Amino acid sequence: MLALPPIPKAECLRPEVLFPLFAPVTSLPGVGPRLGVLIERLVGPAIVDLLWHLPNGLVDRSFMPKIREAPAGVIATLRVRVDAHLAGQGNRPTRVRCSDETGFMHLVYFHAKGDFLTKLLPVGAERLVSGRIEHFNNEIQISHPDYIVAPEEAGQLKAIEPVYGLTAGVTPRVMQKAIAAALSRIRALPEWLDAGLQKREGWVAWHEALRRIHAPESEADLALDTTFRLRLAYDELLANQLAIALVRANTRRLPGRALIGDKRLRRRVEDALPFRLTGSQLQALAEIEGDMASPQRMLRLLQGDVGSGKTVVALLAMLAAVECGAQAALLAPTEILCRQHAATIARLAAPAGVEVLVLTGREKGRSRAEILRKLASGEATIVIGTHALLQEDVAFADLGLAVIDEQHRFGVEQRMAMSAKGKAVDILVMTATPIPRTLMLTNYGDLDASVLREKPVGRLPIVTRSIPIARLEEVVAAIRRALDGGAKVYWICPLVEESEKFDLADAEARYAQLKEVFGSRVGLVHGRMKGPEKDRVMAAFANGGLDLLVATTVVEVGVDVPAATVMVIEHAERFGLAQLHQLRGRVGRGERPSSCLLLYAPPLGETATARLTIMRESEDGFRIAEEDLRLRGAGEVLGTRQSGMPELRLADLAAHAELLQIARDDARLILSRDPELQSPRGKALRVLLYLFQRDAAVRYLRSG
Ligand code: ADP
Ligand code: MG
Repeated sequence: MLALPPIPKAECLRPEVLFPLFAPVTSLPGVGPRLGVLIERLVGPAIVDLLWHLPNGLVDRSFMPKIREAPAGVIATLRVRVDAHLAGQGNRPTRVRCSDETGFMHLVYFHAKGDFLTKLLPVGAERLVSGRIEHFNNEIQISHPDYIVAPEEAGQLKAIEPVYGLTAGVTPRVMQKAIAAALSRIRALPEWLDAGLQKREGWVAWHEALRRIHAPESEADLALDTTFRLRLAYDELLANQLAIALVRANTRRLPGRALIGDKRLRRRVEDALPFRLTGSQLQALAEIEGDMASPQRMLRLLQGDVGSGKTVVALLAMLAAVECGAQAALLAPTEILCRQHAATIARLAAPAGVEVLVLTGREKGRSRAEILRKLASGEATIVIGTHALLQEDVAFADLGLAVIDEQHRFGVEQRMAMSAKGKAVDILVMTATPIPRTLMLTNYGDLDASVLREKPVGRLPIVTRSIPIARLEEVVAAIRRALDGGAKVYWICPLVEESEKFDLADAEARYAQLKEVFGSRVGLVHGRMKGPEKDRVMAAFANGGLDLLVATTVVEVGVDVPAATVMVIEHAERFGLAQLHQLRGRVGRGERPSSCLLLYAPPLGETATARLTIMRESEDGFRIAEEDLRLRGAGEVLGTRQSGMPELRLADLAAHAELLQIARDDARLILSRDPELQSPRGKALRVLLYLFQRDAAVRYLRSG
């Protein structure tokens, strides 16, 4: 959702039929402020968020054995008479003795307070009790039964109940009640589905599908492919695709500008390059230059695997803008990356005589003021910066192109803020990790994309091995041989910050240890170091005295030291696939063969095993991205949690990829026939957009 601006609450014109669903969860009976906070943290603030919290299991209470036949370990419901209360002494629990015609059992309560139990279980009364049967000292018991109800209230006890994801302080019962209350708020909504599609798929109405999904009758009802789940997933995907299509249609309506340079700067830089551009790079450039030259506003994604050479493509695009008298900015997510881009780009751009400015949080006072002056006056044409570029007082004389590196690190607002710094800014976003096709569609729709599939010639494969940490000594010996052979080595440790909480290798401890072995050739860089200190270490590793760099994941994205040929990743089992791929991508950048050692602490879980296997088998970022999507949720792959992109709550991209295609075609057809969503179905679709909080898209309708 590249160009979706956040909109102020006041402008939100949510249809009235949806008001009850967007009331706060605390408006439900039984949900007070304290519980409200817990639920909000788990699912979200509104009643509709509770509705999207789908069951992940079920409890079957329909088994009703007699006491003597009740087997240990199963959930059962028994009809019993209460015989006596046996108060617990000291730490011992209170036990309530009950019986039926086959024998007796105990209901066991720890820390029972007051007359709670005598009220719930009066002696002589009949009760239905439901819970997990235990056998203890040859006696049958249930500890803290889930339900105790009088026979005349048997209706309260559902034979099958859904199980929900919980959080500390929210019990299963409380969650079930909250969701049942939320369900009672739903009303029939106007049907937004295409009648033909609905008929073909046999989909029930929205409210009915929602009711069904929260009332599973068997395990099969929990599957991703029940008709009611499919319908709900489709609704979400349709809202998503429609919103993207609306945003795109609107972007196309915005006035752009044609940036057609005379190539004088690009030619000088290209002629001085120490390598020849790959076919992929040339093609991507042609596509980008084509977009920039058109009077429409560019919004293009440049996808390239690690090391595919995006930076030089970005530079040449920026120079095209500069040739037209406009300015160009490159936004990078971290200080290290920003410095490095600046160094590379300044070097490459030198033949063109173009000055490259850097603006990060580190530029302060006089030097910052001077940079701002140069940007505002147009004296400087290229700037590379971090979030510091987005500050309000950073103004451009004429910003023509903004390049956003590692786009998933930035939120929608930040992209909008960048684009607001010029009149008709062309935008090029770059990703270092290829995005699987399904994710492309759900997050960007049919966004124009250029792909760098080809890697620069002469790259050798990276030999990847996984090794248990117990063989650390062998690894150190291998590193010694590599260092003696003139290699440069990264040694990645998990985050310093987490080391207190978890038993993670501490970068500092590892640094101290390796320093004892290898002396002053060892350096350390981590996220808590001050900027200049980080730079000094990185520079020493790139050009001089340091050959072994112990680092946290601050080197993850983009860092480019072509002489580095060995990557050691400690606790590799704790990293995600994309991260491992990014880290490994720091080597294999020069002409010398490289290797990657994935150190892990056994035992490995299933997912971790799968990840390490894929890493050993493949270097293809596109394949790794697909596997990553399979192993993790979509939100994590794209980092949508940080970037504020809406997450999919009902659709599962692996299971519902086919629905996604249908939704895309559906959305296109809808907008081609009814671009302003004015028909009866169009109006229902507006409700759908609001329901899934794609409100911003609705604003693009002329009469929204
Ligand atoms: P990424 O796509 O990961 O950002 P970079 O832009 O950092 O990749 O490029 C990786 C390395 O490859 C850099 O050292 C860069 O100078 C080099 N490079 C870029 N294009 C080519 C090419 N066509 N031939 C050889 N080396 C190249
Ligand atoms: Mg890069």
